[in-house]
Amino acid sequence: MDGNLERVVMLRLKRTAENLQKNGFETHILKQKEEVVPWLKENIPAGAAVAHGGSVTLAECGVVDLFRSGEYRYIDRDKPGITPEERQECMRQALLSDVYMLSANALLESGMIYNVDGNGNRTAASLYGPRKVIYIIGENKLVPDFAAAVERVKRTACPANTMRLNCTTYCASKGVCVADDRGIMEGCGGSSICNDHILIRRNNIPGRVVVLLVRERLGY
Ligand code: SF4
Repeated sequence: MDGNLERVVMLRLKRTAENLQKNGFETHILKQKEEVVPWLKENIPAGAAVAHGGSVTLAECGVVDLFRSGEYRYIDRDKPGITPEERQECMRQALLSDVYMLSANALLESGMIYNVDGNGNRTAASLYGPRKVIYIIGENKLVPDFAAAVERVKRTACPANTMRLNCTTYCASKGVCVADDRGIMEGCGGSSICNDHILIRRNNIPGRVVVLLVRERLGY
């Protein structure tokens, strides 16, 4: 990246990190995704019950491989041969995990986290249940305000995720959401993956929520 552009991105990341901290989120800026696993090894005790939401970012950072290393009690919703019923049970158990990990669909520079879910398992765990919640968020998820967060989901996150998941939605074939400004989803088709929208403004439980901001493009 051009040096000046890199400075601009870094200033945005720092501003966002400061606002996240003001909002009660422990925040760390990492230079690259390779720093994520060492950070987790230092900060998640061996034997902890760990789980995560569906996330391209986590896979890119090696989190799934780390959780499968045998060091932790991994509530593995994607293990080979798992039945739909067992997968549902994993998602229920994840609500009581020691550490739950996920990414965000958008991160507002004001230090607020925006996520949209189809089943609600990821958004539910982020709100209450797991003792600790750790987000990994790449610089591409930063947006200036709430309107831009909604647009990001409609134009980038959801279309790319529905393509990844082979959904038969409007956005998977057109690359953009069908919903208008009122949020009416008629014509979405298939099974929508944007049923639950949450904006987390603040964390009141000291140390419960950690945000790892990574200076790289990660996930969608
Ligand atoms: S509402 Fe439907 S069309 Fe719009 S982004 Fe979500 S899944 Fe795609």
